[in-house]
Amino acid sequence: MLSVEKIANGTVIDHIKAGKGLRVLQILNIQVDYPGRVALLMNTTSGKMGKKDIVKIAEKHIDDKSADKIALIAPEASLNIIKNYEVIEKRQVKLRNKLVGVAACPNPNCITNHERMESEFKVEEKGIRCSFCERLFKPEDLSA
Ligand SMILES: [Zn+2]
Repeated sequence: MLSVEKIANGTVIDHIKAGKGLRVLQILNIQVDYPGRVALLMNTTSGKMGKKDIVKIAEKHIDDKSADKIALIAPEASLNIIKNYEVIEKRQVKLRNKLVGVAACPNPNCITNHERMESEFKVEEKGIRCSFCERLFKPEDLSA
């Protein structure tokens, strides 16, 4: 097992579907200029999932909208909030039935991209549907 230095304060996102760790960093807007420490572990072994990715981000708080966005691409991910090297809170991301203001509609002609209004999507079995233009998208389309 690859070991990575523990972070003192921040968030560890565990149980990310293998291959999605980079997307999670993108969703959280972690880029080269991020001042804190960031670790991305790809393809680590997991008893439950076979292979998984883990992301550790120092000094980062993940808000509900970001957690909703992570749930789109990694519905099994768990968030571990770290304070003074201890896990003080652990929670599962959850894909809600309705996503409000979580992502912009990928349809450039959608009214939500032209008016000052929040986007809204409904989660259906076949995908994620915009409540305004009614187009159906894949979860990955919304996580960009
Ligand atoms: Zn739309």
